[in-house]
Amino acid sequence: IYIIAIESSCDETSVAVVKNGNEILSNIVASQINSHKRFGGVVPEVASRHHVEQIIRCMALALEEANITVSELSAVAVTYGPGLVGSLLIGITAAKSFAWAHNLPLVPVNHMAGHIYAARFVEEMTFPLMALLVSGGHTELVYMTGHGEFEIIGETRDDAAGEAYDKVGRVLGLTYPSGKEIDELAHQGQDNYHFPRSMIKEDNFDFSFSGLKSSVINLVHNAKQRDEVLCDVDLAASFQQSVIDVLVDKTIRACKEYDVKQLIVAGGVAANKGLRETLKSELEKELPNVSLVVPPISLCGDNAAMIGAAGFVEYQKQHVSDWYLNAKPSLTL
Ligand code: ATP
Ligand code: MG
Ligand code: FE
Repeated sequence: IYIIAIESSCDETSVAVVKNGNEILSNIVASQINSHKRFGGVVPEVASRHHVEQIIRCMALALEEANITVSELSAVAVTYGPGLVGSLLIGITAAKSFAWAHNLPLVPVNHMAGHIYAARFVEEMTFPLMALLVSGGHTELVYMTGHGEFEIIGETRDDAAGEAYDKVGRVLGLTYPSGKEIDELAHQGQDNYHFPRSMIKEDNFDFSFSGLKSSVINLVHNAKQRDEVLCDVDLAASFQQSVIDVLVDKTIRACKEYDVKQLIVAGGVAANKGLRETLKSELEKELPNVSLVVPPISLCGDNAAMIGAAGFVEYQKQHVSDWYLNAKPSLTL
C-alpha cells in the first residue's frame, strides 16, 4: 500500500510517499524558518503564503523521488489539525484536489498522532505503550492500547516544553526556534542556578513550564539591572536540567503505573540530546523490560512521512473523509 501524505500545519510544507505505513520512499520538507526568524515566531499569514508557493512543487518532488506513478497510490493522507487554520487549509485543499482528480480516498490525520507514528519507522509498536509527546505546542503523556487508540493521561497546564525553550532562547538572545541551540549550550554548562522542578512531586501526570520560564526571565532581568553577568551556558544547562528532570520523572512513573511494554518519545523536543540520553539511562535502570523508541532527529520535527504512517492505520480502518473535510485548529487526540 502506497500513501501520499501532506503536512502543512505550521511552518513546514511537507509531502511524503510512505509504503505500508513503515517505509519512507520520499519525504520532502520545505522549511520556512528563515522567513519567520526575524519576527521571533511563526507569522500565520506569512506561513500560508509560503505553503501556497511550495505545495505543488513538494508534491511533484515527492512522487518523483519515490519513483512511483499516481496509479500505484492507494490514498491521500493529510493533516487536518491541530495547527494554524490558514496553513492547514492549504494542505487540505491540495489533498482534496489531488484525491478528487485521481479518484483516491482522502484520509484525515491528526498531526499529534503523526508525531507518535514517526516511531513506526524505527520499530513496530508494542501495546500497551506510553508516548511522551513534546513539541512546540504540546506536552502530553499519551497511553495507547492499540492502533489509533489514544488516551491523554497528563498534559501541560500552561506552556509546552518547546514553547518554554523558544521563550527562554529569546531572553538569552538566541534566534527562533532556539531548542537546538539551548541543547548545545547546555552540554557546555552546569546546573548551577538550579531552577524549580514544577509539579514533580504532585500525584498526577500533568506538567507546568511557565513558572520555570519566569524564573529564568526574572533572574536574567534582575542581573541586568544590577549589571551582573550571568553564565549563559550554565543558564542553558540549568533550564534544560529542570525540563528533563520533570519530563523523565513523570514519564517513568506513568510507564510504571500503566505497566507498558514500550515508551515512544515524539515531537520536536524529542530531538533534545539531553532528554534522549537521560530517558535511555533512567529507563534501563528503572524499567529494563520497557523498550524505548525515539525517532531519528530528522523525523522528530514536522514532516509528512509521519502523517503517512498514521494515515496508513486510518486507511486500514476505512476512516476516510468526504469532500467537505475542514481544518480543525484545536483538534485533540
Ligand atoms: P505541535 O507539533 O505541538 O503542533 P510544532 O509542530 O510547531 O508544534 P514541532 O515542530 O514538533 O512543533 O517542534 C518544534 C519545537 O521543538 C520548537 O519549539 C523547537 O525549539 C523544539 N526543538 C527542536 N529541537 C530541539 C532540541 N534539540 N531541544 C529542545 N527543543 C527542540
Ligand atoms: Mg516547525
Ligand atoms: Fe509538530
